[in-house]
Amino acid sequence: MTSPREDTYQDQDYQDGNALAGPLSEIFAVDVTAAGGRCASCGLTGPIASLRVYGPEPGYVARCPGCEEVVMRLVRGPDAAWLDLRGTVSLRISLRHEEGRP
Ligand SMILES: [Zn+2]
Repeated sequence: MTSPREDTYQDQDYQDGNALAGPLSEIFAVDVTAAGGRCASCGLTGPIASLRVYGPEPGYVARCPGCEEVVMRLVRGPDAAWLDLRGTVSLRISLRHEEGRP
């Protein structure tokens, strides 16, 4: 398999944001992949599941599908996790699913 470097992020081995569902479920009581996030760089708003996720080693790096900026980093150590959200303006986390799925 060849992966031409000229294509920077276009055809690389990223996963979508659902790859973060497991690791984030250790931290949050709700499914954050369904949350809406706003990119601090370009303002694009979309579900965490739509992010381009690289990882898991040495940590997860989630990039905006619009501008490729890093919006989230997650590193899991043996007894702690580091969550870096500096590329995210805000997260909109729906809390209605507790009552049963719509
Ligand atoms: Zn962006």
